[in-house]
Amino acid sequence: MSFLYELRCKECGKTWGNVPRSFCEDCFSPLEVSYDYDSLKKIARRENLAARPFNMWRYAELLPLPEDFSAPNATGGTPLVASHNLASQWGLKNLYFKNDAVCFPSLSFKDRVVATALTAARRFGLETVGCSSTGNLANAVAAQAAQQGFDACVFIPADLEPAKVLNTAVYGARIVRINGNYDHVSRLCAQIADRFQWGLVNVNLRPYYSEGSKTHGFEIAEQLGWTLPDNVVVPMAGGSLITKIAKAFKELVILGWVEPKPVKFFGAQATGCSPISDGVKRNLVRFAPQKPHTIARSLAIGNPADGPFAMKLIRDSGGWAEDISDPEIVAAIKLLAETEGIFTETAGGVTAGVTKKLIAQNRIKPDETTVVCITGNGLKTTDAIAAEFPATEAIAPRLDAFEAYLDTQLGATASAAGGKR
Ligand SMILES: *Cc1c(COP(=O)(O)O)cnc(C)c1O
Ligand SMILES: [Zn+2]
Repeated sequence: MSFLYELRCKECGKTWGNVPRSFCEDCFSPLEVSYDYDSLKKIARRENLAARPFNMWRYAELLPLPEDFSAPNATGGTPLVASHNLASQWGLKNLYFKNDAVCFPSLSFKDRVVATALTAARRFGLETVGCSSTGNLANAVAAQAAQQGFDACVFIPADLEPAKVLNTAVYGARIVRINGNYDHVSRLCAQIADRFQWGLVNVNLRPYYSEGSKTHGFEIAEQLGWTLPDNVVVPMAGGSLITKIAKAFKELVILGWVEPKPVKFFGAQATGCSPISDGVKRNLVRFAPQKPHTIARSLAIGNPADGPFAMKLIRDSGGWAEDISDPEIVAAIKLLAETEGIFTETAGGVTAGVTKKLIAQNRIKPDETTVVCITGNGLKTTDAIAAEFPATEAIAPRLDAFEAYLDTQLGATASAAGGKR
């Protein structure tokens, strides 16, 4: 290999150098960045990380970055939250939430993939960047394009949550709303990438984009003191993140940064859009595409590009996939907020709710170390839970009004507590 990394076909293995393209011209299978690990072992040392800031760029050697690369931002480096309350409620000894709801700059794990994709866009001399998006990706492209001086043009289904549209518009990105669902938007973007010299991060830059997801996995291992967990629960839309966390763990083993260990991968979807979990549960060879209908808009991809790879990973690892209903998603969002103080969007509700289900099914066991991936922020999907919290009546700014209010609220409880309420 003449480079430390280059694109390789996932099926036929043919290499293509480094170019803005996502599929093999010979067999039309997806391309992936493949590394020369023998050479990497000599330059990528765990000791080097100590001097670097805690963000995704600390793993630079394990990402497809050009030689003259310098970190453009401080994306990643999110908390791994050790759970106490939910862990005891669910009867688990070691439960963690990897919290990308607070990822910089646009509050979802999509900031990681956009960060590596824009590095590729710059290297290939592409001045306009964009994406097809279920919301979070558009936010991340718009924010980082603004910061790094790219023109941005993003394509979204017309009926996306208002907060996600606003969170894109504010950065000055051009937004093209499409009458159709995500899968229609995605097909259009494939044609646009062919016609224009644009860097569509999840289309022609997809191999570079998806490598950014590995940093979510690298951080989990480092935050667990350079060990791997027994279980990971990951939300699935296109099915890329789950496969890239697996790739990250595998690379850390190859480099000798962690001890090898079997990790079970669990995939989470909403029942209203569950082609991958349905395929796993029914033991299908190929998943059946679906027409999405769920409040978990960020996961609403009915024909997931990496679905087959996600299914294979889940099966080979001894894990499982599950899905939950919209009311269960809302309940899980509230549960995570009330117990751990983490406010996640619908995708995080899916992941937390599916974790609960997997524990009830005894697929996740009490003594194991389990990491649950929270990938997006609750402030972006307030519509999904607003009905749960009707506005309370306002009162006069007087002590007697507050006392009267307390009486109506607490009634017998307040009186029972005596004068001290
Ligand atoms: C996109 C997205 C996912 C799923 O990512 P894939 O790699 O497409 O499976 C999960 N959570 C959130 C919040 C997302 O925006
Ligand atoms: Zn091929």
